[in-house]
Amino acid sequence: MPKKSIVVIGSSNTDMIVNVTRIPKPGETILGGKFHTAPGGKGANQAVAAQRAGGDVTFIASVGNDAFGEQAIAGFAKEGINTTHISKDKSQPSGVALIFVGADGENSISVASGANSRLSHVNIEKATSAIAGASVLVMQLETPLPAIQFAAKLAAAKKVPVILNPAPARPLPDALLRRITILTPNETEAEILTGIKVTDNASATKAAGALLARGVQIVIITLGARGALVAMAGLVQHVPGFKVKPVDTTAAGDCFNGALAIAYAEEKPLIDAVRFANAAAALSVTKPGAQPSAPTRRTIEKLLTK
Ligand code: ADP
Repeated sequence: MPKKSIVVIGSSNTDMIVNVTRIPKPGETILGGKFHTAPGGKGANQAVAAQRAGGDVTFIASVGNDAFGEQAIAGFAKEGINTTHISKDKSQPSGVALIFVGADGENSISVASGANSRLSHVNIEKATSAIAGASVLVMQLETPLPAIQFAAKLAAAKKVPVILNPAPARPLPDALLRRITILTPNETEAEILTGIKVTDNASATKAAGALLARGVQIVIITLGARGALVAMAGLVQHVPGFKVKPVDTTAAGDCFNGALAIAYAEEKPLIDAVRFANAAAALSVTKPGAQPSAPTRRTIEKLLTK
């Protein structure tokens, strides 16, 4: 099958991670940490996950005119992702996340969005033909909302299905929700969007119903190790997760969305597409890191046929 084209619009960050014995208190200095950097940002993570899961991905993003931006673009190109629509903003540095990870796995994170905050309708307009020709458009909420609304409107006009991962969660206007084909909150995000606490299938069904009532076509609430709940007119179904030994659950949701995009673009039946996404995300939690842990198509298919 020829690869389906997926457009991802979103954030790209460089994660700067220091492993410490414990998270320093305000005013405190702790010596002895190990330091490493890793590519991150929800948009970038989802773009990489979709490409590895078998997509032909174009990533629309804004990085700074600096070494981190260059490094990020080189990384995407190495994955085979189309980087034509990644712009280099001259007024802001590339996005970074400063992350402390304690010995007990606890973390403390501060994100400087930098150039991500400059992603606007201008970037989207320049990529009109890529969006119009895509099988699916994927977005999250780490970049400014006006550009997301603009892109959703454009996709709707061109009849391109839109997957919106509402993370980090924030209140969303109904005008945007009405243009979303698939909304993919996790339990916390579903609660922030609806006010309904999601703890089990019954409460997830209730929260999904509230989102459908606001105009979303399909709601998929991810439930961590338990998999996901799918809801649309006339259908509510729990799709169980795959049993794995979790090592690092960072970006499990990003991997889920990237893989879902491809499976949906390939017109797999919805429940099969969610199983595919569950398998990809389960594999991602068995390895450390965000982007490095995204599995290839072959590994996903191997788990599905096990
Ligand atoms: P987020 O990472 O956005 O918080 P979730 O925790 O709901 O989202 O995880 C997203 C998806 O990742 C789940 O729907 C599931 O498919 C997979 N997943 C997450 N944690 C595990 C786990 N411990 N075992 C197997 N699959 C998992």
